[in-house]
Amino acid sequence: YTADYVRNFSIIAHIDHGKSTLADRLLEITKTIEKKSGNKQVLDKLKVERERGITVKAQTASMFYTYKDKKYLLNLIDTPGHVDFSYEVSRSLAACQGAILLVDSSQGIQAQTVANFYLAFGEGLAIVPVLNKVDLPGADPAKVAAQLETTFELDTADILSISAKSNLRVDEVLPAVIEQIPPPDGNPQAPLKILLFDSWYDSYVGVVCLVRVVDGSLAAGDYIVSSHSGAKYEVAEVGIMYPEQTRTTSLQAGQVGYIFCNMKAISEAFVGDTFFRHRHPVDPLPGFIPAKSMVFSGIFPVDPNDYSRLDESIEKLTLNDSSVTVQKETSNALGQGWRLGFLGTLHMDVFRQRLEEEYNARVIVTQPTVPYRIVTYPDAETAANQEAQRLEGSTSGEMASASASALASAAADDSNVKVKQVRTPSDFPDSKELRMVYEEPVVSATLIFPQEYLGAMLEHCNSHRSENQEYTFIDETRVMLRCTLPTAEIVNDFYEQLKSKSSGFASFDYEEAGYVVSDLVKLNVLLNGKPVDALACILHRSQLERVGRDIALKLRKVIKRQLFEVAIQTVVGSRVIARESVSAARKDVTAKCYGGDATRKMKLLAKQKEGKKRMKMVGNVELPQEAFLSVIKQ
Ligand code: GDP
Ligand code: MG
Repeated sequence: YTADYVRNFSIIAHIDHGKSTLADRLLEITKTIEKKSGNKQVLDKLKVERERGITVKAQTASMFYTYKDKKYLLNLIDTPGHVDFSYEVSRSLAACQGAILLVDSSQGIQAQTVANFYLAFGEGLAIVPVLNKVDLPGADPAKVAAQLETTFELDTADILSISAKSNLRVDEVLPAVIEQIPPPDGNPQAPLKILLFDSWYDSYVGVVCLVRVVDGSLAAGDYIVSSHSGAKYEVAEVGIMYPEQTRTTSLQAGQVGYIFCNMKAISEAFVGDTFFRHRHPVDPLPGFIPAKSMVFSGIFPVDPNDYSRLDESIEKLTLNDSSVTVQKETSNALGQGWRLGFLGTLHMDVFRQRLEEEYNARVIVTQPTVPYRIVTYPDAETAANQEAQRLEGSTSGEMASASASALASAAADDSNVKVKQVRTPSDFPDSKELRMVYEEPVVSATLIFPQEYLGAMLEHCNSHRSENQEYTFIDETRVMLRCTLPTAEIVNDFYEQLKSKSSGFASFDYEEAGYVVSDLVKLNVLLNGKPVDALACILHRSQLERVGRDIALKLRKVIKRQLFEVAIQTVVGSRVIARESVSAARKDVTAKCYGGDATRKMKLLAKQKEGKKRMKMVGNVELPQEAFLSVIKQ
């Protein structure tokens, strides 16, 4: 296959707009998979993906398709639709020359349509807009086409309107891909240059590298060298994903495929690395900006005896998800565990679910913490100036994020200024030194919703400390609102609340936007006077009273009566914010059974023991697992 007859493309869409369904149809049309009844969604390989209907890990499939008597090799590179996984999206797009922008014609443009469009546009990809779900009674393709024109300035004169589900006009999609997306421009005669854009560990064959051959050609027996590490490898096998790994004799410039080269560890397959032929070095490609953790959470075994088994499971899971960062952590309440960093709360949820389902683990997950920063200046005056600047910046309506990242980089350049990242409330001081300035991460958010919800949406953002609100109309009835939000405000139930306040009509997406100076405090929880580290949290001062009272109340509800009174206090330093108590009770579960039937008594005792497994002793207080979770939902 010369590059002229190759197309590398992906489908980008808002979640649920039909990307996986369309991918299945294209694989059927090209006879890559057999046509069977029902939606199989071949590319969504993980169990969680099928269950939750989301794509987590980008997948790739090659297809053969004859168009105007020429046989084409089409490489479909699937991308996850959810914001948490936008790192996966950008690296899959780096292997493509174009993208199908798929929009549900009954829903119109949504927040992730916008975000994904700009990712693809930024990569310089050709965009093929396609309207899906035209079979639905509420479909309004003309209106959605108009939205695409106003929002993205796309030409929609010949736009395709399809139904992926009922296979309506899906046969027009691949011709459009061939006509509108340019072939890759690699040179098969030039020195070998390969981009590694994905890798995973397969328990049968070891490390699999997914590559795009930019220039030259590659076959088994070739020796290649990593620009990243300098290590040399002999290529054992090359092939394409059809849709499973299928061996080929070579991979040519422009092609996308897999290679095996006897790498021992997944860490050798560095995503974004450039490989070249041994003794023929080339300039490496730009690579990727590594994914940054948006939230950190503590993970602890429910039963401390499971520690080493859990350690192994976490290691296995992170083998194929390098975006999770792992660190050991010890808690006075929960014992030994880990502090894991995730790309977002969905990512965190998916990880926990995989741990529980694929590895049978029973874990306690503590409330998520965003990566705060403590910047220590040489003296108190400089610190005060930095805080003052931030206050001015926000009143004059200047982009908080822009000024904040400028400040942050200035701070990083000055060796007298120390920047410490906080991943857990335990790393946060109880009282602030005058030379210190606290900073929190922010995102720039996009919300799209029908006009009648404008008031409610502005209100929702305001109550989550939003700044720099700006809105425009994408058509007569829909509004796009952009604003800056503290990351901490979106990691809890921002999204769920947004959905309910907009009757499900609002969509939301965001991207990181640096750090801003912030008035933060650490809230501690004391049980009978003893601090429980796993329940501490970092808050903006304005939320202190509300959250302090809330946590105390919630803990009172979940802590069972014990043999003594349990005093619950939420405090900042030595200042008590709220106080609750659980009064003492005599606990004798078998009292009713005296003289009664022994098996009932045994059953009760067994039940109590079972209950105990989900309990944690903190000092002399028994805490149920929910205590650690109840604090999360504020
Ligand atoms: P993805 O999240 O973009 O991958 O979306 P899916 O392919 O998983 O589709 C989401 C839902 O929309 C599924 O229930 C599909 O069956 C449904 N769907 C996909 N395409 C169509 C279509 O053309 N018409 C209708 N009525 N439903 C569709
Ligand atoms: Mg999908």
